[in-house]
Amino acid sequence: MVKTPLCAVIEERLRSSPHHAINIAEYMNLCLAHPQHGYYMTRDPFGLAGDFTTAPEISQMFGEIIGAWVVDIWHKMGSPADFILLECGPGRGTLMADMLRVAAKASGFLSSARIILQEISPVLKAKQGETLGSGITWIAGLDEIPPALPLIIIANEFLDALPVHQVIRRAANWHERVISLTPEGLLCFTEQEMPQDLRPFAPPDAPDNLIVEISPARLHYLGHCAVLIRARGGAGLWIDYGAAHTGHGDTLQAARAHSFADPLAAPGLADLTTHVDFEVLRAAALSAGVSCPRVVTQGAFLTSLGIAHRAAKLDRADDMHRLVAPDQMGHLFKVLCCHHGLSAPPEGF
Ligand code: SAH
Repeated sequence: MVKTPLCAVIEERLRSSPHHAINIAEYMNLCLAHPQHGYYMTRDPFGLAGDFTTAPEISQMFGEIIGAWVVDIWHKMGSPADFILLECGPGRGTLMADMLRVAAKASGFLSSARIILQEISPVLKAKQGETLGSGITWIAGLDEIPPALPLIIIANEFLDALPVHQVIRRAANWHERVISLTPEGLLCFTEQEMPQDLRPFAPPDAPDNLIVEISPARLHYLGHCAVLIRARGGAGLWIDYGAAHTGHGDTLQAARAHSFADPLAAPGLADLTTHVDFEVLRAAALSAGVSCPRVVTQGAFLTSLGIAHRAAKLDRADDMHRLVAPDQMGHLFKVLCCHHGLSAPPEGF
């Protein structure tokens, strides 16, 4: 284990918490979003020199296809003259730049769109500003969205960064997996009784002695997006890795220098994620009253929207392979959409 600057912050939190333990959601939050030492707050993690690569950083085709999808949605909304195009967790701004290059070809689109980015990292905000130039605004959370306007929401690898709790049913009792210190002062996993406020999220049919991941933060975020779309009209598109149907088990992982690492080994220096449970998120969206087609794989989505034609034109069959092949990103990554008030269903589902 590396003694990182964040370790002192975590140890202080452990000392002041009732059982000298913090839950995994709080640990993820500290590791990713602590104002001074959080992973995203201090660096640009993408690309060869960084820790991982995302679809928009692999190929411009990813953003171009999503740009065409967004234009089609805008038309199906009735081409409103004033609408919000929100991207959550935009990284370097690459996806938005590729989308806008394509969308600029649709007459009236750019002059109608208010482009808003939801981002917590000052380093990445600066990078996004460089990539996208002027005319962009930033928000820290969904509460800051301008009122009333219809909206289109896009998010790639954003949900996986929102914190999760891990809980385990042991006979009649639910426990929560938490983090504390060994006598030698190293971070370790242990268990505590699960707090009451997590009870509504614990699946009643979970098998005994198996870790179950629950994320009130993801549910709250997606539910909020669905409520906005229901009230104002529009659509949202979320792409991330995870399962279309709830499966149980520990998926907490750290990524550092393009390989997997122990999540406790270097707090604040590695990216920390878990797989996204799209089934519970889709159910939350449906219960907010929006339409929500069946979740599809990234491979199926990009293929049905014509990535093969674009790849042939650009002569980039290798990039397409990385994005759509089942043993690359094609199957593990899923696409969730919700929409309301469109004249026809979205493409790709
Ligand atoms: N969409 C980009 C980046 C994915 S990484 C891509 O595909 O390349 C996750 C992004 O979400 C980063 O920009 C990170 O800073 C941002 N982020 C993580 N947690 C966040 C939060 N709670 N609120 C807003 N942005 C967050």
